[in-house]
Amino acid sequence: MASQYDYLVIGGGSGGIASANRAASYGARVAVIEYDRLGGTCVNRGCVPKKIMWYGSGYAEAFHEAKDYGFDSPKPTFDWSKLVERRETYIRRLNDIYKSGLDKNKVDSIVGTGSFVNANTVDVDGTQYSANHILIATGGYPTVPEIEGAELGITSDGFFELTEQPKNVVVVGAGYIAVELAGMLQGMGSNVKLLVRRDSPLRSFDHTISEALVKAIKDQGIELLTQATPSKLSKKDGSLTLELEDGRQLDALDTVIWAIGRHPATESLNLANAGLIPNSRGFIETNEFQKTAVNNIYAVGDVTGRAALTPVAIAAGRRLSDRLFNNQSEARLNYDTIPTVVFSHPPIGTVGLTEAEARKEYGNGINIYQSTFTPLRNGITENKPKATFKLIVTGENERVIGCHIIGEGADELLQGFAVAMKMGATKADFDNTIAIHPTAAEELVTLR
Ligand code: FAD
Ligand code: NDP
Repeated sequence: MASQYDYLVIGGGSGGIASANRAASYGARVAVIEYDRLGGTCVNRGCVPKKIMWYGSGYAEAFHEAKDYGFDSPKPTFDWSKLVERRETYIRRLNDIYKSGLDKNKVDSIVGTGSFVNANTVDVDGTQYSANHILIATGGYPTVPEIEGAELGITSDGFFELTEQPKNVVVVGAGYIAVELAGMLQGMGSNVKLLVRRDSPLRSFDHTISEALVKAIKDQGIELLTQATPSKLSKKDGSLTLELEDGRQLDALDTVIWAIGRHPATESLNLANAGLIPNSRGFIETNEFQKTAVNNIYAVGDVTGRAALTPVAIAAGRRLSDRLFNNQSEARLNYDTIPTVVFSHPPIGTVGLTEAEARKEYGNGINIYQSTFTPLRNGITENKPKATFKLIVTGENERVIGCHIIGEGADELLQGFAVAMKMGATKADFDNTIAIHPTAAEELVTLR
């Protein structure tokens, strides 16, 4: 293995692998440094295992509704450990695919922890490697609250290590992970309490969506506790008790999950040796070209604290390599209008400005088109989850600047609408598109 490279990438996750492969495709001599399984958070402890669990809980929902479609069958039993085993086998296959992808592109894989010796040299467990350009793509870790007994709880990492289904669970947090884990666990039959420290989950989302989510959460059977800040977690006779700041106490819990955000993985990097100082929240700041304060060092993905999503890390990493190794001097990621989905029950899709953001930017110069309806699938079922679709438009030509949806299929249908918005589509463009019937998506081209 060489010790001098054109490009050294620290972190073999979404952003690092994508950037390394792209750089190597242009003929650069590249190595990726990773101490854990290849694929990073998304593949091993994030998007992929999460989505499989989400599909799992979708089956539970479908079984429940099946009787309304004439299927008369005994209540199916659910084997959590079997699902986990199949999920992990699949992930190990992905780990191998990432490794053979690197091999195919002639990217060296260096196993170990990378830390800076200086701005051009990285130490990996005692061996030094140098490069003209170095990328930091080390991602992040779940945050654990600083309260007594916090170590008795688990994080999303621990959730993916559970080999048995927890029965009585508290999920603490109000973001993507809290909402997704709470929904999955409840769907698969656990009793879930979701604790948010303010009034609702997903507060930064469009208010129509977070309000609809609160209703959906309650309809699903999740107990939502608001203004709930944990102060102490303790264990007695194998069962957990969570105390809240206002004196409330939750007993007889077997699992408490902290889902209160993530912090950047920079501790092991010895950034000071490279002349780098993280910002006050610990993230590594970059300019629009992913360049840090040090000329030949770059950062992409979660470690930068911007839009912590896999496709964002991948796109930023690839464009950086296009610029550094393929003379595309202006290549960079535009962080505007990033579509995103929360895999709740039902899922949420959102792209563009929320109503609050749009009002701040355009004042009264916006219009809202909105509809709440029962999807056809639930027309004949006892269970009647609602869908809500909302468009925010501005200007005389009614350019679509926000699209927010909650309802079955939101996860799959958003991507195409995001393309339209990226191209500057107007409400008239939406309306001029013939609907696909009968679907939920058609609602977006027929809003009045
Ligand atoms: P990572 O993928 O985290 O990779 C960083 C890698 O660096 C890790 O493998 C780590 O081991 C390694 N590393 C760290 N320090 C060192 C070091 N010093 N030396 C060597 N290696 C090091 N995003 C979506 O878009 N959709 C989803 O559905 C989604 N679901 C998620 C669900 C969960 C539960 C979580 C936690 C995240 C989810 N995300 C999702 C976010 C997504 O996983 C991250 O945005 C993405 O993985 C970030 O990629 P990255 O390359 O920045 O970092
Ligand atoms: P988020 O940043 O999304 O949400 C965490 C929330 O927890 C905060 O917004 C805050 O909400 C609340 N919180 C913060 N500190 C505390 C505290 N001490 N006690 C109680 N509540 C607290 O973080 P997540 O961990 O959910 O996810 C990290 C990121 O990973 C996401 O932002 C997303 O980018 C990505 N991700 C993407 C997914 C997807 O694409 N489907 C799925 C999962 C993760 P408030 O201020 O309202 O209290």
